[in-house]
Amino acid sequence: SDSHFPVPVSPDEVDLSQHYPRYFPADKGGGEEPPPPRIRFADVGCGFGGLLVGLSPLFPDTLMIGMELRDKVTEYVKERILALRASNPGQYDNISVVRTNSMKYIPNYFRKAQLTKMFFLFPDPHFKEKNHRRRVISTQLLDEYAYVMEVGGIIYTITDVEELGEWMRSCLEKHPLFEAVPDEEIKADPVVKLLSTATEESQKVARNGGQTFHAIFRRISLQEE
Ligand code: SAM
Repeated sequence: SDSHFPVPVSPDEVDLSQHYPRYFPADKGGGEEPPPPRIRFADVGCGFGGLLVGLSPLFPDTLMIGMELRDKVTEYVKERILALRASNPGQYDNISVVRTNSMKYIPNYFRKAQLTKMFFLFPDPHFKEKNHRRRVISTQLLDEYAYVMEVGGIIYTITDVEELGEWMRSCLEKHPLFEAVPDEEIKADPVVKLLSTATEESQKVARNGGQTFHAIFRRISLQEE
């Protein structure tokens, strides 16, 4: 349960030097320091981490984090990243993982407008009506995601469950702070191919010849903002 993992009281308490040691060297040379980098991409419910591993070389200067509820799976992803760093010096330093309940603690990890991309790949479907409140995309949670996302940032969702795909799309369509990314842009976005190929779940779906449904939306601004 939640009591078994630490939760930072605010984004300032997140110790990035533990996650990305190469970006936060202990030995500061003195003089003017550039502002420290921030996490920009979040993979929510990252599972075994295939997306992070795929994204890392595409955006080598962007810090990314996977958020995963299951303890053993999180430990696996940590080991996987350490092994990749060890066998590929200078690579995979920009990805990390944290064990947390993303439905409760997103604002503990990210400041307003911090994220430029958020990923929700093959989330659990929670079929029954009474369990829809447990879905990781909902109107209420989109308010939180909109808060931590930069204007212009993109939210990527994909699933093999048609009903869930429609649900995620309709939540996003209804939300005043998100707008569908046009098809031409989706086609040109190098990240999109990874959605259906990079993760363990996507590979399982592909092996079984399953269909997938994506919804890709941009965080937009309102006049008042
Ligand atoms: N995205 C991965 C993929 O495509 O292979 C994993 C998909 S798996 C079906 C869904 C994952 O979401 C599981 O690993 C599960 O533990 C995680 N998850 C479910 N609810 C979560 C929550 N509230 N916070 C963080 N992770 C969660």
